Order: sequence, then structure tokens, then C-alpha cells
Amino acid sequence: MNAVKTGSHVASTLEKTPVGDLVDGTGHSSGAEWLTRYSTSLMGVFGTPQRVLVRGAGCLVWDADGKEYLDLLGGIAVNALGHAHPFVTSVISSQLATLGHVSNFFTSPTQIALAEKLLALTKAPAGSKVFFTNSGTEANEAAFKLARRNATGPDGAPRTKIIALEGAFHGRTMGALALTAKEAYRAPFEPLPGGVVHIPFGDIAALEAAVDETVAAVFLEPIQGEAGVRPLPVGYLRAAREATTKAGALLILDEVQTGIGRTGKWLATEDAGIVPDAITLAKGLGGGFPIGALLTFGERTSSLLSAGQHGTTFGGNPVATAAALATLHAIESQRVLENVAVVGDYLRTGLADVDGVTEVRGEGLLIGFDLDADVAPAVVTAGLDAGFIVNSPGPRTIRLAPPLILTKDQAGTFLAGLPAILQTAKDAQ
Ligand SMILES: *Cc1c(COP(=O)(O)O)cnc(C)c1O
Repeated sequence: MNAVKTGSHVASTLEKTPVGDLVDGTGHSSGAEWLTRYSTSLMGVFGTPQRVLVRGAGCLVWDADGKEYLDLLGGIAVNALGHAHPFVTSVISSQLATLGHVSNFFTSPTQIALAEKLLALTKAPAGSKVFFTNSGTEANEAAFKLARRNATGPDGAPRTKIIALEGAFHGRTMGALALTAKEAYRAPFEPLPGGVVHIPFGDIAALEAAVDETVAAVFLEPIQGEAGVRPLPVGYLRAAREATTKAGALLILDEVQTGIGRTGKWLATEDAGIVPDAITLAKGLGGGFPIGALLTFGERTSSLLSAGQHGTTFGGNPVATAAALATLHAIESQRVLENVAVVGDYLRTGLADVDGVTEVRGEGLLIGFDLDADVAPAVVTAGLDAGFIVNSPGPRTIRLAPPLILTKDQAGTFLAGLPAILQTAKDAQ
């Protein structure tokens, strides 16, 4: 009680300071002024930000100039419950005002409860375990290290070969980057951790030929998000499970983008009829708060990394795990997965009817659509001007990954606005 009182007293004092001004978005600078300061103080790896955002509520956000946007990207599949969700916000605030960080020399109730909850939601078999991280790339780093401990070759030798797919995106740190296929991301940082082989996307014969007893693991995204929302073909996961089981290799599913309700199911792969050896999660897990997780399925895989072989300072901290518990609870109790299925179908059907849209892909509220011209970046710009946030993972591909609470009415405003946005983008070419 004391801590809460002290916390709110400090907060009310800070409200009158320049920090409080920044938080509530009344920092008195225009978007253009902020962007000038950005370019002189922040590293240029992201290019120029599209807007300076100061406030959000549900599926809406506002920029520093007061303009409103319907957020159809959700922080790239992160803001599962939209912005400033009251329940998630209050759980995070009260956890932070009670106990914020303890290090992994200690544990806390929310960490343990979240691990149990994730194992239950993913129907993990007995002996399954969780390792918490702060991001998707860290979850995949942990999985990479796990794979390096898979030393059950016929002669007992360690296996170092890992199979990933062309088009794969698994993150930007060195191990995850080695798993990522895109040459422009990789080339400046060679040499990367060795042993990763990229095979053609969705080609079962190529997979079966590649997976032998020298392979430690196969990494797969059920739907490649960064490659433009490209789902694995039917039967591919089952073939991957059979080939990896036969070869003694681990099957590791990267559900960083597709997990936590994004496809209308807790996991995109939950109906695939297979049990993987490990799953990585992140993006939507904390409802906007940074957290990731590696789930290892079964006793054997769960004991590959032993005491001292991996670690993190922040991973699994009380605030992040409380945020994730709150997010999962809200998704469950508000029947959000049903909304994802309904609004996702509505959007895909509507998009397919728009002139200039040539293909619509994806599941639930992870949607990619192709255009009949290379105007996707111009569509992003025209979309912003019209009050919609969308993303272009390719020159003629648009990706939508809105909050899972997007309403049909909100989706309808985008469908109604899209023809004019496409026209503006084409005129700008
Ligand atoms: C975003 C993403 C990652 C990387 O997550 P970060 O939190 O950005 O490190 C890894 N895998 C997939 C499939 C992703 O979409």
C-alpha cells in the first residue's frame, strides 16, 4: 500500500516536469520539429520515422500534430489489445508499483504463473519448460543455442547444421540473423554463426533431402510475415515433423509473429496435428510490453540447456510477465479469438473485391495482399495521409497486422478508403 502511495505521489510531482509533458504528448513540438531532433540524435538504422506518435486508445493513435490514424499494423503484430488497454495498463501499473525487477537469482509469482499458462494454452506435453526473453530475436537465440546442444548423432558427435527456409525472418542478432535469409540483412555482418542452410520455401522434397542425421534443427515460421505473409503449404509441417523425427533433429517453430491469437488461434500451428520440439513467441505476448519466450516440448528437449548455459538479466521480470498474463486473460475473457476470425474473414473477402488487388493471403488478422503495380510504399504514404497505418514488406505487397480487437466497422472504413488510396499511390508514381 505504501509503495503505491509513494508511486502516485512521485507521479503527480513529475506531471509538472518536462518528463510528464513528454509522456502525455503535450511536448509542444510539431511532428516536423521532433523529426529534426530525431535525425540528429537517433541512429539511422530505421530510416526516417513516418510519424511522431504521442497517444493511443484501442485501435486508434494520434500524432504530434493531432492527426488521428486507424492502426492496421499494431506495432507490427505487437499491440494485440490495441493501445492503452485499461486492464493491461492497470495490471502493469500495480505490478510496477509493487515489485518491478528482481534478477533471475530470484523468481516471482507472475513469472511462474505465466510459464504454467503458456504450457497449458499450447497443450505442451509433460516435462515441457519455458525460458523468458525480452524480444523475438532473443527467443530465437535461445532456440539456436538449444539446437547446438542436440548432440545425438549416430556417433554421439554434436550436430551443427541447421535448416531454415528461403524468405525466413528470425531476427537481427547474430544467431537469429544467421537463420534469417535476406542477403541485404546478412551480408554486412558476415561471418555469422555457421552451419545454417536455407532451402527453397515450401518444397517438401527439398526438405526431405536436406534433413539427415547431421542436422541439429529445422526452424520454420508457419506463415512468413516479413516475406509478405506467406503461409507454408498444407502438409509441410507434417512432413517436417516426420523428417526431423526420423533424423533426430529438432523441429523449432517461430511463432513470434503468428502466435498469441494473431491467426484466430493461440498458435497458428495448433491444428496442424503435430507436436514440435520448441516454439518461440514474442510480439503479441505482452500486449505491447516487451517479452518473448522459448517453449521446449517434452523432457528431453527441455533438458538440453542445463544450469549456467543460458541466461538474461531482464527476461521474465515481474512487470513483463504480469503484462503477458493480463494480455492472455483479456484475450480469453473477452472472446478476442472469435473476433479475429470474424473480422479477418471480413477483411480478406473485402480486399479480394478491391480493384487492383491481385492476391490476398493470411489467416485471422495477419493479412498480406498483392497489388497490380509496384506501388506498395506509395500506398503506405497515401494510407497515412488518409488516416490508416499499413506496412509494405515488398514493392507490391501490403501487410496488415492490426490489434486483435479491431471491429468490423473499423475494418470497413479501410475497405471503403482503399480504392482512393490505391489511386493516389498510382498517381504519385
Ligand atoms: C519480429 C520477428 C522476429 C524478431 O523479433 P524482435 O522482437 O524484433 O527481435 C523473429 N521472428 C519472427 C517470425 C518475427 O516476425
